[in-house]
Amino acid sequence: MDLNVKERIPKIIAVSKTFKIDHILPLIEYGHLDYGENKVQEALEKWTDIKNQNNKINLHLIGKLQTNKVKFAVKIFDYIHSLDNEKLAKKIADEQQKQSKKPKIFIQINLGEEDQKSGILINDLTEFYNYSQNLNLNIIGLMCIPPFNEDSTKFFMKMSELNEKINQNELSMGMSSDYMKAVEYKSTFLRIGSNIFGQRG
Ligand SMILES: *Cc1c(COP(=O)(O)O)cnc(C)c1O
Repeated sequence: MDLNVKERIPKIIAVSKTFKIDHILPLIEYGHLDYGENKVQEALEKWTDIKNQNNKINLHLIGKLQTNKVKFAVKIFDYIHSLDNEKLAKKIADEQQKQSKKPKIFIQINLGEEDQKSGILINDLTEFYNYSQNLNLNIIGLMCIPPFNEDSTKFFMKMSELNEKINQNELSMGMSSDYMKAVEYKSTFLRIGSNIFGQRG
């Protein structure tokens, strides 16, 4: 038996964005603990009460984070998957000190070098990682959203390589359409929405 098998089982983040809490409750009651939202305001409204009742639930921010929302994001989210610029890093650092709460953070990588997409470019990663480390952020790994309509394989492969370069273990990659491939490339957090909850309206 492979004793490391447990380490290789990725966590599944049930991406519950846009779904009402009634739709999510059966999964919570079943005991699933990790949920993903892409908007701070929506997360506060949906999850504040539930998190107060069940402190085992982990809430993951998987969408773009504006600096003016950081205060609320640090309050409600346990993981932030979308750190993508220095100003945001600084703001999170200030806020985690104020609230004495340290979210786990992924640096989002812009793998396709797409202008319209958020994320740190590969060439800037080492510098940005060091900058974030110096701010005492709890960086645990990298996150990516591969370019739409392209085969994710080469991007996932690159992610494993980059994570090794900065000596981190966690990889947030893989969605409903490509999660099997993400598992092959050592993803540790799959972000799955429609395959769990159905099509979003
Ligand atoms: C919505 C979303 C997902 C989930 O997408 P599905 O295709 O429904 O699985 C994953 N990651 C991010 C960043 C998202 O915004």
